[in-house]
Amino acid sequence: MNFKSQSFPAIFLDRDGTINEEVGYLNHPSRLKILKGVPQALKKLQEAGFKLFIVTNQSGPARGYFPYELVDQIHNLIKKRLKKYGVEITEFLVCFHHPSENCHCRKPKTGLIEKALSFYSIDISKSYVIGDKCIDLELAQNVGMKGILVLTGYGKGELQYVLPQKNVKPYFIAKNLLEAANFILNEMSS
Ligand SMILES: [Mg+2]
Ligand SMILES: [Zn+2]
Repeated sequence: MNFKSQSFPAIFLDRDGTINEEVGYLNHPSRLKILKGVPQALKKLQEAGFKLFIVTNQSGPARGYFPYELVDQIHNLIKKRLKKYGVEITEFLVCFHHPSENCHCRKPKTGLIEKALSFYSIDISKSYVIGDKCIDLELAQNVGMKGILVLTGYGKGELQYVLPQKNVKPYFIAKNLLEAANFILNEMSS
């Protein structure tokens, strides 16, 4: 069997502002709100053969704002809410470092996706990074994937005020995750 035929495409999703409502530091489970259309979007992508990963910078615990366990708790809650729709997140990839630690995994650095690439047989050419910030687009560029900016969360402000100063271009700009999913599925079939 050809090894290459076993590889699969993946979607690397930002968490806050992309999957769930951006509330600043998500420091309590009661503040978790999955954005409208997100379960449906993820279901479509999953059914089209994409594995779903969440890639997120969570420096809150390192800043002393809330315990590390809370992040796990939130991720279990996200899993549970998505599971009702038959959506499965393959893995949550988290950078817990404080920015001053200058780690190799805080987005837009590539450590988290590199980890996924070392464990899973992922077809980079068919994979996407989706997020509401320019760092998500830079991450996409840094790993050689297509980057989609969603206009939920910080998206609109990032598009207007941050993107013009950056040396990165979104492959596509979507109103929300559902529109991003429809774009990807459309691109697959054309
Ligand atoms: Mg975000
Ligand atoms: Zn890190």
